[in-house]
Amino acid sequence: MEFSLATNIERITNAIRNAEIAHGRYQDTVTLVAASKNVAAADIQAAIDLGLRIFGENRVQEVVAKWTDLRAANPGVALHLIGPLQSNKARQAVALFDVIESVDRTKLAQEIAEEAEKQGRNPTVNIQVNIGNEPQKSGVLPADTPSLIEACRNVYHLNVQGLMCIPPAGQDPSSYFLLLKSIAADHGLPILSMGMSADFAQAIAHGATHVRVGSAIFGDREPVVQ
Ligand SMILES: *Cc1c(COP(=O)(O)O)cnc(C)c1O
Repeated sequence: MEFSLATNIERITNAIRNAEIAHGRYQDTVTLVAASKNVAAADIQAAIDLGLRIFGENRVQEVVAKWTDLRAANPGVALHLIGPLQSNKARQAVALFDVIESVDRTKLAQEIAEEAEKQGRNPTVNIQVNIGNEPQKSGVLPADTPSLIEACRNVYHLNVQGLMCIPPAGQDPSSYFLLLKSIAADHGLPILSMGMSADFAQAIAHGATHVRVGSAIFGDREPVVQ
């Protein structure tokens, strides 16, 4: 594990830097978020020891179980929530995560805002966009995204910084990345969280600021339904 993990991290880090160069992006402007769902705490610690500092997790329960000790041992590490969030878990999410990337409805925005106020925390928030209008996927529809951004900003006073998406499987993601980029630009949002193991280089070509890479770092795990 140790050896392949080191190799994988080096390969992905180099591939990100190469994509920046290839697509005229400034150096070191694309941030790697290591998607660590279903990865054991020991392997996450190994990845931290190899230099990774930002991790994305999908489930609040899994984070409580896995990250309590990891957090205490690694104060410099940041955690992003990249999976769907139920409103009744907003309290835990606000307590556990530095960035909540999956805000997709006003009810959830309201719960996060109330908890942020109560806990004296101010998590960075991304809006998750269901960029392919897929019925089974989480995320706000593209057409409804402007009003959700406005509500998060002006009604709930959340620290909205960007958009996140997972394009439809089995298609060229380019047009979806471009659509996400244009919505973000329309609203002055600097963060574009898009691109995973299979397509992060393409996402960087289209403006990703954050890529969420799991299996290319940690190997294949049980798929998680979004
Ligand atoms: C698992 C996951 C990823 C990483 O996917 P890989 O294909 O394993 O790189 C990225 N984003 C989200 C929301 C995920 O659930």
